[in-house]
Amino acid sequence: MNRREFVKTAAIASAVTSLPSSILTAAEAAAPQGASLEAKVVRLNLRHTWTTHMSSSAYRDTLHLKLTRDGITGIGEGAPIVRYDEDAVRGKAAVESIRDLLLSSSPLHYEKVMAEVRRRFHGNYAAQAAIDIALMDWVGKKHGVPLYEHYGLDRADAPITTFSIGIDNPETTRLKVEEAAPFPVLKIKVGLDTDEATLAAVRAVTKKPLRVDANEGWKNKEEAVRKINWLESQGVEFIEQPLPAEMIEETRWVRSRVHIPIIADEACVNLAAIPKLAEAYDGINVKLDKCGGMQQAYAMIKTAKSLGMKTMLGCMISSSVSVTAAAHLSPLVDYADLDGNLLIGNDPWVGVKVVNGKLVLPEGPGLGLTPAQV
Ligand code: MG
Repeated sequence: MNRREFVKTAAIASAVTSLPSSILTAAEAAAPQGASLEAKVVRLNLRHTWTTHMSSSAYRDTLHLKLTRDGITGIGEGAPIVRYDEDAVRGKAAVESIRDLLLSSSPLHYEKVMAEVRRRFHGNYAAQAAIDIALMDWVGKKHGVPLYEHYGLDRADAPITTFSIGIDNPETTRLKVEEAAPFPVLKIKVGLDTDEATLAAVRAVTKKPLRVDANEGWKNKEEAVRKINWLESQGVEFIEQPLPAEMIEETRWVRSRVHIPIIADEACVNLAAIPKLAEAYDGINVKLDKCGGMQQAYAMIKTAKSLGMKTMLGCMISSSVSVTAAAHLSPLVDYADLDGNLLIGNDPWVGVKVVNGKLVLPEGPGLGLTPAQV
């Protein structure tokens, strides 16, 4: 855009924003009366500074949506993933850019709506997830069924969830493991030079089964084989993303030399990636924010199962909106790592709960969320 076009666009934008509220655009006029969409960025404060191989932070900003139509409000959330160059502000702008589409479409046609959202968005998977979750919450509420029933699932089949321990010094690692006492299985983040010290600190205070996530932290296949075989001797059940996502051939080499399953996370962003990954990995970690919501996650889980792969549902650090949405699909999977809401101190919502490590799905319609008591 040259300067003249920019000035012209800015003038139009300012004219639109200064229109009196009684004047509606054609698309807004097509939306039913009372339909509204609220998109906002919410800052979630972490209980502990969270460190993985990739980043360290004291808070996370996620995108929250409220889509109202026919007196029903669907709640959605997307937690942008820095690795894929996404952030909440740009996610919000993406949602705003299709406001008319969302206000004029029936959420009952969620397949059609999401196909159009995917066509218009380039990336912005967390924003896609926020929209998809809001649509599904609305649909569940409209039909009066919890989303696990919408998918034909039994809440009794929800798995246990791991509780994740971020990378820290040995003393803090020990404290975090003690805090995680109610969880029967822990997920430990590794991928630095301190891996042995981290595992030693964990094993000093617990004999629980462990799952380990290297977040692409190891850089060559020999190091990966050596560390995975050592981790197996420490009671580790599986290893997630030991090598960088693009190193599929090397991962296949590693897989032939270790005994515990290797799960793809960063390497598995969408449905199309799965058949190729089946050659190098034993399973996939599906995240709503990575693939763009519940529809895509459901399709990925079914596809991976059809290829004989293990399936796992993971999450980003986010509120109970996003984690509960994933939890409604959890009766389908082998493993769950749905603890992102437990890592924050100001969750605006109450949804899925964890009792003795097991996910307990809310029974209300849609996501079944209730506002947190502040
Ligand atoms: Mg991971």
